[in-house]
Amino acid sequence: MRSGFDVIIIGGGVVGCAIARELSRYRLKIGLLEKNLDVGYETSGRNTGVCHGGFAYDVGTWKAKLCLEGNRIMGDVARELSFPFKRCGKVLVGNTQEDYNRLLEVIRQGEAIGVTGLSMIDDAELHRLIPGVVGNFAMLSETSGILDPFQMTIALAENAVQNGASFFFGQEVTGIRREGDAYVITTPKETFVTRWVVNSAGLSCGKISDMLGLTGYRVIYSKDDYILLDQRLGREVSMPIYTVPSNTYMGIHVTVTTDGNLLLGPTAQDTEDNAYYGVEQKNLDFLYKAAMDIWPHFTKGDYIRTYSGILPKWADEEGRIQDFKMEIVDDVAPRAVNLVGIESPGLTASVAIARHVIGMMREREAFPERADFNPVRKGIRRFAEMTAEEQAEAIRENPDYGELICRCQKVTRAEILQAIHNPLGVSTVTGVKYRTRAMMGRCQGGYCQMRITRMLEEERGLAPQEITYAREGSQMLYGLVREEAHHVEA
Ligand SMILES: Cc1cc2nc3c(=O)[nH]c(=O)nc-3n(C[C@H](O)[C@H](O)[C@H](O)COP(=O)(O)OP(=O)(O)OC[C@H]3O[C@@H](n4cnc5c(N)ncnc54)[C@H](O)[C@@H]3O)c2cc1C
Repeated sequence: MRSGFDVIIIGGGVVGCAIARELSRYRLKIGLLEKNLDVGYETSGRNTGVCHGGFAYDVGTWKAKLCLEGNRIMGDVARELSFPFKRCGKVLVGNTQEDYNRLLEVIRQGEAIGVTGLSMIDDAELHRLIPGVVGNFAMLSETSGILDPFQMTIALAENAVQNGASFFFGQEVTGIRREGDAYVITTPKETFVTRWVVNSAGLSCGKISDMLGLTGYRVIYSKDDYILLDQRLGREVSMPIYTVPSNTYMGIHVTVTTDGNLLLGPTAQDTEDNAYYGVEQKNLDFLYKAAMDIWPHFTKGDYIRTYSGILPKWADEEGRIQDFKMEIVDDVAPRAVNLVGIESPGLTASVAIARHVIGMMREREAFPERADFNPVRKGIRRFAEMTAEEQAEAIRENPDYGELICRCQKVTRAEILQAIHNPLGVSTVTGVKYRTRAMMGRCQGGYCQMRITRMLEEERGLAPQEITYAREGSQMLYGLVREEAHHVEA
């Protein structure tokens, strides 16, 4: 049994990690329980990475307010924590008078929320910004941007750990009960005792809410499929290109990532199964056609891979989607923060959600501040982003920068070692991938995956069979296929 926690956070997505990081400003014993083997393995690692402007949400909602605030602070947070973020803007392109009127409505709504930098731009300006885009005009949102969702989640988690929080992986919460003033939280492996608990379980928010006795939330799931294209194309698209949104669907978009890949998506389909991430051929065909209508400059040869993400939406009896739910119900579950339906724009809003949640907690209890809180986390220095002189200098200082492990993305041994020995500790192959970009290029790890597996083996002192690709049970190696040659009788 692990006891004495002030706060246990359930869920290591971007919201749980942001809460852990923001709480680590106070003198508290903080634990985070995550069922997967790393942070960001569910919705926080399966999204579009757009820092939304905030204009798309109903006036007066938490989605609108916290998106706006999350967007406002994103530059500072990204600088402190060293994760990639670009305030590059975003366009919503249109062609008809109806589109034009709808975009004017979007501007009016955005301005009522307090979003700045929204304007209509004509054909010439649109094509100056994004040559080759199909559209007669557009709405430009200057404050929108793009960020790396993996790196953001990892950076928040690492900074929380630097400031004293503890993360426990492979710990799926299966039960919560109250004993006096404490919550006793059980997983199949261990028991944790804490005064406060935070439900930040994303797709499982309804289950954890039930465990806390806060019953009755109806959570429905919407699955979005995407196609990831070659980095070659990212140079030609300076900002995300969206179409005109309806009230329920943001519309198809062609988005650029901070690493210069293009994303085509999403499909937006309701699903019962919140753990199925497969992408069907008919959806690939749909995305190909729909994306061609707005940016027809790619071929199927540019596809690198597909992926999907699932949104947890809190809906009422009639199926109407509700706002973010963030509550502490003192008479049912005191000192339990319950987060339900943290769908889009949960990535943009994550740090603002965390600060709001901590505000709710501090209305009930004074948390003493830590004088030694360090908001700065240094990221991995990327060889591929250095100038030739910087590369030479880096190799002189650390010869491991001179050994390329991933050729497609030019990731060196030095970077892989920094990833493996980060404050959270990495035990999976994708843990290295998301921290370094190794295996994210054209060959998707065909060349370097086994070398990285070997490095994990050596550095972590693990047996080959203990190394997983991503989740528990996704072993890279299961055993020997043949005995060593010297065992064979001549
Ligand atoms: C396709 C798609 C595109 C999106 N695009 C954007 C975008 O461009 N911009 C934007 O702002 N937002 C976007 N979003 C929304 C955003 O990604 C989410 O709102 C955000 O990631 C939610 O984070 P979270 O931490 O609440 O949830 P999650 O990332 O799902 O984290 C919850 C964590 O809880 C863990 N967990 C669950 N149950 C248990 C348990 N019983 N015990 C222990 N751990 C548990 C899970 O493993 C998971 O790691 C998008 C979402 C999707 C699906």
